[in-house]
Order: sequence, then C-alpha cells, then structure tokens
Amino acid sequence: MAEHESLEFGKADFVLLDNVSMEEFMANLKLRFEKGRIYTYIGEVVVSVNPYRAMNIYGRDTVEQYKGRELYERPPHLFAIADAAYKAMKRRNKDTCIVISGESGAGKTEASKYIMQYIAAITNPNQRAEVERVKNMLLKSNCVLEAFGNAKTNRNDNSSRFGKYMDINFDFKGDPIGGHISNYLLEKSRVIFQQEGERSFHSFYQLLRGAPDSLLRSLHIQKDPAAYNYIKVGGHIKSCINDGADFKAVADAMKVIGFTGDEIQTVYKILAAILHLGNLTFGVDGDVTLIENTKLVSVLRELLSTKEENVEKALLYRTVATGRDVIEKQHTEQEASYGRDALAKAMYERLFCWIVGRINDIIEVKNYDARVHGKNTVIGVLDIYGFEIFQNNSFEQFCINYCNEKLQQLFIQLVLKQEQEEYQREGIPWKHIDYFNNQIIVDLVEQQHKGIFSVLDEACMNVGKVTDEVFLQGLNGKLAKHAHYTSRKLSPTDKNLEFDRDFRIRHYAGDVINLLPFHADLLCWSLTPVAVDLLFMFLLCASSSNTVLKAMWPEGKLSITEVTKRPLTAATLFKNSMISLVENLACKEPYYVRCIKPNDVKSPLLFEIERCRHQVEYLGLLENVRVRRAGFAYRQTYPRFLQRYKMISEFTWPNHDLPSDREAVKKLMQGCGFDHDAAYGKTKVFIRTPRTLFSLEEQRAEM
Ligand code: ATP
Ligand code: MG
Repeated sequence: MAEHESLEFGKADFVLLDNVSMEEFMANLKLRFEKGRIYTYIGEVVVSVNPYRAMNIYGRDTVEQYKGRELYERPPHLFAIADAAYKAMKRRNKDTCIVISGESGAGKTEASKYIMQYIAAITNPNQRAEVERVKNMLLKSNCVLEAFGNAKTNRNDNSSRFGKYMDINFDFKGDPIGGHISNYLLEKSRVIFQQEGERSFHSFYQLLRGAPDSLLRSLHIQKDPAAYNYIKVGGHIKSCINDGADFKAVADAMKVIGFTGDEIQTVYKILAAILHLGNLTFGVDGDVTLIENTKLVSVLRELLSTKEENVEKALLYRTVATGRDVIEKQHTEQEASYGRDALAKAMYERLFCWIVGRINDIIEVKNYDARVHGKNTVIGVLDIYGFEIFQNNSFEQFCINYCNEKLQQLFIQLVLKQEQEEYQREGIPWKHIDYFNNQIIVDLVEQQHKGIFSVLDEACMNVGKVTDEVFLQGLNGKLAKHAHYTSRKLSPTDKNLEFDRDFRIRHYAGDVINLLPFHADLLCWSLTPVAVDLLFMFLLCASSSNTVLKAMWPEGKLSITEVTKRPLTAATLFKNSMISLVENLACKEPYYVRCIKPNDVKSPLLFEIERCRHQVEYLGLLENVRVRRAGFAYRQTYPRFLQRYKMISEFTWPNHDLPSDREAVKKLMQGCGFDHDAAYGKTKVFIRTPRTLFSLEEQRAEM
C-alpha cells in the first residue's frame, strides 16, 4: 500500500479493495479522480485517469520526492514507475520496458513524455556534455514525430496516429547514451481523407500557416488549406493549435537533431507534392485515361526532381506481373484515382519512416564498447494505440485491435510469469490462477494459412478481382467454427451484423464487438505494393535526381522482377512488426501504465462512470486485480516491513533480538494473530488478504 496517503483519497492500490467488484473498483477510481488523485496502483501497474487540467505534480520537487524511493513509499505516480524501471536497470542490470496503453485521448503520450522527462531529470549528475546532447535529442525528437505523426481528431486535438516504441540506452553509470525509435502502422488514410471535424497530420497546416512566403512560392503552394482537396475538410477547423509557431519549433528541432538543409527542403517538397497530387483529376478520351490538369504534372515534376513522363506514367499506368513477365497496363479513370491516392499515402508514409530512420541514425549509440564499459542497458517506452471500436471499423482498427490482443497476451504471460517466478525465488508454493487466455483470438488473426491475415493476403494477390463477397467467403470457409468469429452468413439473426460484408471478432474483453466492413478492392490497393508502388519507385522516386527523396525508396536499386516476386502486404508487414515488438518486450522486465479517459468533452470535472467502466473492462483491470490478489495482495522485504510495523509488537519494539528480521516478522505476525494469512519467503513477507494489512495499519495508527 502506498504510504503517506490518508484513506479520504480512496485506496491507493486496488488490491486493497474489500471486494474486487466492478462497483468498488469504479467507486474508488471516481473518488480518487474527484480528489485530484489521478494515479492508483494495481500492485506495480499504474492506473492513470486523464485530469484534463494542468497538475502541479511533475516539477523538480516532485522528482526529488520519488528519486531512488521504493514504489510504495510515496503516493502512486508515474515517476515511481519510471524510477522502479530505472532502478531495475541500474541496480540489477535488467533491460526494462514501460508499456503505456489506453484509448485515444486517455493520456498515453503525455505520460510517455513525463516518464522521459523524469529519466532526463534524474540522470547525468555530472553534467557530461555528450549525455546532455543525447538527452536533448531524445526530448526534441518528440516534437518532430508529433508534427508528422499526430493530428487533431474528434477525440484528441493531438492524437498520435502511429504506434511508438522508444528504447533509451544507458551506460554503466546509468546515464543515457542513445536511443532507438520504432514506429508502427501510421494511419496513412488520413493523408487523403478526414472525418468531419478532424484534420490531416499537423505537418500540412504547419507548412501552410508557418512557412515564409518565399518558401511557399517555391513550392507553388498557397496559404489557404481550402485550396487542397486532401486537407480542405479539416482546413477550416479552429483549434487551440498554433500551427505557425509550431512550424518554426519543428524546423528548429529538426536542425538541432541534425537534419541538413537539403533534407528539410525535401521534406517540404514532399508535403507540397502530396497536396498538389490531391488536386489532380482524371478524364477519359475514348479508351485513354488522361490527367486533366497538366500544369500540376509539371509542378510535381519540379518538386520531385524527375521527368514529366515519369509523373504521367506513374499516375496512369501500372505494371502487372504475370509469371515471369511484367506488362504495362493502363488504369481506368477510377483506378487512376485510387492510384493517385495510394501514391500520396505511400509518399507520406515513406517520408514519416524516413524521418524516424534519420532520427535513429543520429541518436543511436555510437562507440560503446561493452568490454570496456560493461553492459549497455535499455529502458523501452511503448506508447501505442488502445482498442478502437467505432461504427465503421476499417483495416486500421483491425490492426490496432490485433495489436492490443498481442499486448494483452504478453501482459497475461508476464504478470503471471513474474508472480510465479517471484514465488519460486522466495520459496513459496505457487497456486494456479484461472484467467481468460486470449491466445485463441491472437490465433484467429495471425495463424498461418487459417488466420484472417492469411485470407487477406491471398485476396490481395488478385487485385482488381477481389470483392467483399469473395473475401468474406474465404473467411467464412476457414473460420466458421471459430468461437470468436462470425458473419451475417453464419449468424443470420444477429442484429449487430447489419451488412453482408460485415464480420465480427469477439475481442478479449468478451463483449467488445468489432465490425469490419472491408472494401476489399480498395483495401488491396493500399495493401499490395505490387500494382502501384512499383511504378512510384521506378518512375518517380527512384528516377529523382534528389538524393534525399531517392533514399526514401531504397527498392529503386532492385530489378523489376525482384520487386514483383512476392511482395509482403501491409497486413503481413504489420503482423511481423507486432510479433517482433512482442518478442522484444518479452525479454524485458515490464512496467505498465493503463490510461483512462474520464469523459468525451475534455472536462477536468466530469467522471462519466459508464464510459470509464467500459475502459476498465477492456483493459482487463479487474482481472489484473484478481490475478494480483489470487496470490498475495501485499509483499514487502523484512527490514522495510519491520521499519513500518515494529511498534505494534513487544517482540520488535524498539528493536528485536531474534536471529533474523525474518524471524522477527514471523513473531510479530503470530503475536497479532495474522500468521495464518502470511507466507514467509527468503527475503519478503507475503500477505494474502488486504484486511490483514488494514488491521496492521490500524494498530499502527493507534500506537
Ligand atoms: P492518442 O491515442 O489519441 O494519441 P493519447 O492517449 O496519447 O491519445 P494524449 O495526447 O497523451 O492522449 O492526451 C490528450 C490530452 O489530454 C493532452 O493533450 C492533454 O491536454 C490532456 N492530458 C493528458 N494527460 C495529462 C496530464 N497528465 N496532465 C494534464 N493534461 C493531460
Ligand atoms: Mg498519443
């Protein structure tokens, strides 16, 4: 139990609830939120509720309070988790990771920044210049990534539209010496389309509102977002975002990080090229498809440093691999529009990945010799999208929800595994805990030859011929018997399945239902690089005389047949990236932050109970408490336990004369009649029920 907090603020750790019921859990969460206590533990997991107001709890003085302390010595805080991860790394040489999850707007990114700030604040006491440089880069990289990867959505004005995992490397002294960022699944559909009330990525508006006139002129860009099809929907949106100022901040950050002038210019050119692409329209003359606004072709040629014929070819033709041959085929008008949008999305995605790659080049650990300096250890911070369930869920939600299944699976394995290991280490018998194992859902999605990804991949091998029906038939054929899958054909009376092209996955929270109308054909356009990407690479980007642009399309070096062989689809790439993410996390000691969004109106006062309950459910928090309590609710090392409770027993106050602290604690517990509820490990005492702990606390208070 976190000390120094009175019970008027509710229970600082959910394992101390009298009964583990949803009602009690919610009542405690609400009470704490209303009292301004936004953090609560479940054992070593931090549950955080977005306060939607500035809290005075992240300053230097708070850092000092948490520095080097044990988790339970101070009220629950992100800093305590950051410190625990840091200590594990420094004292025990362990690689650790902090996994932050929760839905959009729940506060994940803010939490990740506070964690990084904390680590920056407690390291490098000797002010080594190189370490300061690294810390500065790591902090600055956030600003650049947010410009290109975040957008205003209806749920969050600064919503991360990509998953981020950042490793921070430390030397033997515990000071940061570098880092590495991995990015996952950028929501590239946003480049060409936004829902009502939403915007595209910040970077576009920053360019329009912040770039000097001379730059805009050279890019043939005008200031008004309404002039550009791709961003005009969101162009009129007023928000508290100051794009003009942000443009400068981002440009400065890029310079500080070490982007060259040429690189920064190319970034602007690509943003401009994408905006121009969105205004291209097509027409037909007989059976020939044409680009209507030829002026834009010449603008694109200039921005991409290529030839006009390359631009035309990239937009009007595709290559089709038939066996060994590669043939050129003209697009229909509709295909040309798909192709244009696919090109815009691919260019932005490449740009984003390239930016991440450049940051990595610069921040990666250099010249570290483990033989001389000892092991280089890592703290990883994962800020990744939580479950998303909308009215219409597309491929992106499908991937995001799959990602959450993977992480939940890891959570289950690690939490149980850790408990088990601790009991073994301490020599205490392990009791089996019953829990829902979501591996079955993970398999539903990723299993080879049978899973949804594999059906999708097959479908995408036939661009142009796949319909939703064909795709659905494939799924029904393979998954009809799966308990977590259904479609209208399989469950005709199910009212939730409105359309024939819907299928449903029952995600791990049980009652989380996922509707996925995939527009198979459209989807394939963005999934398979074969049909369209190929031409972009060869005709547009690989032929560019701009070396920065060329570097974003490294396949340019390959031959045409090599690229068309059997390209990996976006689905497979995502699956592979998730598998390697989970492998990477699994070999680290994990810490968890579970973020909750209290309401949909960004109010600091409103705790919408139903809204929160839903999140508690699908984050599996009650299950988490149960798992934690099924073993022992509380554990503490003998000396610390004595330090806190020795005054309640004549055997231990003021000091004991028993052969060990372990014996002394045993004697104390026996004296109070709590012996039946405790187990004595090698270094720690374990207490099964929270009530015992309350009694100890009460007795202590009476002294
Ligand atoms: P997404 O999945 O959309 O990226 P997110 O979980 O990363 O969402 P954040 O961007 O971290 O959400 O938070 C949304 C907003 O909530 C912030 O811009 C900020 O206004 C507010 N907020 C979040 N956490 C805090 C906090 N600890 N203190 C004050 N305000 C906060
Ligand atoms: Mg975020």
